Amino acid sequence: MSTIEVSDLHKSFGDLEVLRGIDFRVEPTEVVCVIGPSGSGKSTLLRCINLLEQPTSGTIRVGDVEVTDPDVDIDAVRRRIGMVFQAFNLFPHLTVLRNLTIAQQRVLRRSKKDADRVARDNLARVGLAEKETSYPAQLSGGQQQRVAIARALSMGPDLMLFDEPTSALDPELVGDVLAVMRKLAGEGMTMLVVTHEMSFAREVADRVVFMDDGVIVEEGDPAQVIGNPRHERTRTFLRRVL
Ligand code: ADP
Ligand code: MG
Repeated sequence: MSTIEVSDLHKSFGDLEVLRGIDFRVEPTEVVCVIGPSGSGKSTLLRCINLLEQPTSGTIRVGDVEVTDPDVDIDAVRRRIGMVFQAFNLFPHLTVLRNLTIAQQRVLRRSKKDADRVARDNLARVGLAEKETSYPAQLSGGQQQRVAIARALSMGPDLMLFDEPTSALDPELVGDVLAVMRKLAGEGMTMLVVTHEMSFAREVADRVVFMDDGVIVEEGDPAQVIGNPRHERTRTFLRRVL
């Protein structure tokens, strides 16, 4: 069974139709990168998957749960999905460790001891074991984003959604975050990644999806979509970003 299955997804904001019939799947352990111009609907697509936006029509399934079922337990769906945004959204008044444990204790009802252990394991995983007593403001942007990834991982998600996780970073900090994501991919995490990092998409993605104006224009093997796109719209976009 696919981890994510999106069928004929439409989303409008008032008169503006932002997603105009999206169909795609992400299989278990697959890494899919979504590329496309600003305003093409990439964030809206990710936000529909964990119901931060309510789709206008169409169906979304995550694992065996129909996310678009009106009776769905939204919190249960969100617990299975880790989300990492462009802005790190860490709690500024909490230490790194506490940032990683608060939802584990409050949402998953883990004991402090278990939450601390999971948090430390995940801080080590992102290379920040020594930062557990730091506050977010004491870290670089790249370190903050790695903490945000560790926080999402601490909830034990079935899949991870990334929305331009390196776009807010100074160029010299991008590599550390991408390295963590590459490692996660290597460990078999299912990942849907909106990114402008074409070299990451080329090296790490199993599949690349190009979106423009609310539709998927083309998708396929990264070397093909990025290296030899079929559609003029894809070529125009790639000329601008490469
Ligand atoms: P991308 O992530 O590809 O840049 P978005 O999904 O953020 O694109 O946005 C797609 C379009 O939807 C844009 O025109 C944006 O202005 C519009 N949009 C996104 N969110 C909202 C919202 N909450 N209300 C109204 N319009 C929105
Ligand atoms: Mg976006």
